[in-house]
Amino acid sequence: MQTNFQNDCSYEEYHSNKLWRQASLKKCPVHSDGQCRLERHGTYERYGPDGQNKTRIARFICRREEGTVTISLLPQFFAAQHPGTLQEYEDQVAAAEKLGAGKATERLRSSPSNGQRQSDWWLRRRLKRLHRTLAVAKERLIEIFQGCEATVTAMRRALGRNDLLLYWRRQLHGSLKELGSPIGFAAAGKGRLPISSE
Ligand SMILES: [Zn+2]
Repeated sequence: MQTNFQNDCSYEEYHSNKLWRQASLKKCPVHSDGQCRLERHGTYERYGPDGQNKTRIARFICRREEGTVTISLLPQFFAAQHPGTLQEYEDQVAAAEKLGAGKATERLRSSPSNGQRQSDWWLRRRLKRLHRTLAVAKERLIEIFQGCEATVTAMRRALGRNDLLLYWRRQLHGSLKELGSPIGFAAAGKGRLPISSE
């Protein structure tokens, strides 16, 4: 499973300073009874923002009598369950909202730094996935997003910033395991964040 490595560094800082070495896990995100034995469990490789250079993600293992679970600590800037960064994901969906998936795909393909494969279908799927997650996230901050569409364009305008997904990841850092990708870590097809009654 994945969980959040809470750091505010950029990809460049993370990669050049090898910050995965500083990732730590104080509590097991899977079990809450305190019976877990957590150990470091190496790292794995993941492509960076341009889809070419690779960096590393820290991994831990929880050992219990009934079995083991591996847990990776994903830095804030990376998309969950999808390649690339949150910012790349957000910019792609913003382009699709503005231009339509067909034109946005053409533009993405012509970008020399973009190593990801795109098709109209691929981009439409990303858009649908993100809109679903934003609709769920919005309910948690309804006082800010009252009457706002759950789209990148509308929410960027409401906040006055262009790093919307990073904003959501920080705002909802305590509930990421119930929120869908690319912001949260809920299993695919889930991502139903319970509306709290507080
Ligand atoms: Zn555990």
